[in-house]
Amino acid sequence: EGERLYLGFDFGTSGARFAIIDKDGAIRAEAKREYPLYLNGESQDWVRSWKETLFSLLEDVPLDIRKHVVAISIDGTSATTLIVDSYTGEPLWRPFLYNESCSDALPVVKSIAPPNHTVCTGSSTLCKLVSWWNHVGSDKKPALLLHQADWLLWLLHGKLGVTDYNNALKVGYDPEVDSYPSWLVCQPYYHLLPSVLAPGTPIACLKEEVGNKYGFQKDCVVCTGTTDSIAAFLAARASQPGKAVTSLGSTLAIKLLSNTRIEDSRFGVYSHRLDDKWLVGGASNTGGAILRQLFTDNQLEKLSEQINPSQPSPLDYYPLPKAGERFPVADPNLAPRLHPRPENDVEYLHGILESIARIEAKAYELLKELGATQVEEVFTAGGGAKNEKWIKIRERVLGLPVSRANQTEAAYGAALLAKKADQQNIPS
Ligand code: ADP
Repeated sequence: EGERLYLGFDFGTSGARFAIIDKDGAIRAEAKREYPLYLNGESQDWVRSWKETLFSLLEDVPLDIRKHVVAISIDGTSATTLIVDSYTGEPLWRPFLYNESCSDALPVVKSIAPPNHTVCTGSSTLCKLVSWWNHVGSDKKPALLLHQADWLLWLLHGKLGVTDYNNALKVGYDPEVDSYPSWLVCQPYYHLLPSVLAPGTPIACLKEEVGNKYGFQKDCVVCTGTTDSIAAFLAARASQPGKAVTSLGSTLAIKLLSNTRIEDSRFGVYSHRLDDKWLVGGASNTGGAILRQLFTDNQLEKLSEQINPSQPSPLDYYPLPKAGERFPVADPNLAPRLHPRPENDVEYLHGILESIARIEAKAYELLKELGATQVEEVFTAGGGAKNEKWIKIRERVLGLPVSRANQTEAAYGAALLAKKADQQNIPS
């Protein structure tokens, strides 16, 4: 009785999961599901897969805690875009996936947006919208643009046309002045754009039919979400300026909480708003992909055990899976450098791990040069985070405290957004 729990969903590229947390952030339940395969003609019916997965996961929530859930949020893949009927909410078109490029729209988008704006890439939400708009021509039903997370949240609350300023960044929303910019407002498709709230803001109560069917309370509130990578950052609870998360997956991605907003398209560096702060990020092509080309995960573990992390490695590499780097060096032709290879694989791996750490240090240095708050502490996520020796090497090279993040699941970050929404009123 009286316990308040928070439910967060993460909709990733291959499946979805949820986490339920209490007021102290302790996990009370979690589950995950792969997306079922539904073919619609030749192609996967993504919308049906997502919808079905959402309701299957609701059924996976343990019965005894459902009535204690007071707020729900969802994160989705950034720039995954749906065009829906503005009366029924049903998709009018197959969804545009996060990584899909609509480069046909790029010349038009470049002609209306400021130079080097985030929307000036073929996979931006705005390019997807413009591509659809031009393709469909004059015979259009009243339509609305939603991001993946917005549409899934709508299935739960039923109020059409709401998003958050993290998801809206790639359609051109300006989070600094908190409005769509004038160059977008004057476009003929402006009326398709959703209204924008801060992530973790209550939208409406859970639809009665959903609440009744699954046994959630009727004043359970559904609130705005965010993108998957921001939710993963939130999970690490790096909530002070100067705290950062390095993600060591296939690539090396860094995110730093900063008091200042920085953007530099040469390096692919941009900032997301998080309340009164900025989440600054950039991604290098170095990372685990090259490790996986050279070693199995088992070899990585065995070889790493033998590394002495307090000893600097003299080997100076630039490990890349193929030519080309964006951040912290903007050079589309930068060649991988992995030679000379010592006979001893422990020394080789040590040199690679240390070289990646030097790239990480350079990345944080560059963010500072571009005007971001100085990094003070680094949490680590991704497959490389379990490597204790690498953490020690990175501490030495970065000259900062480095640790593995306690929580790295985006679903946990979404649950924190639901917690944030609790105690806030639903905006009228
Ligand atoms: P992604 O989701 O980006 O594909 P993951 O976060 O699952 O990547 O991490 C996988 C990567 O982690 C692989 O590229 C692999 O080389 C790397 N990895 C796995 N085990 C270790 C280890 N012990 N030390 C360093 N890297 C590791």
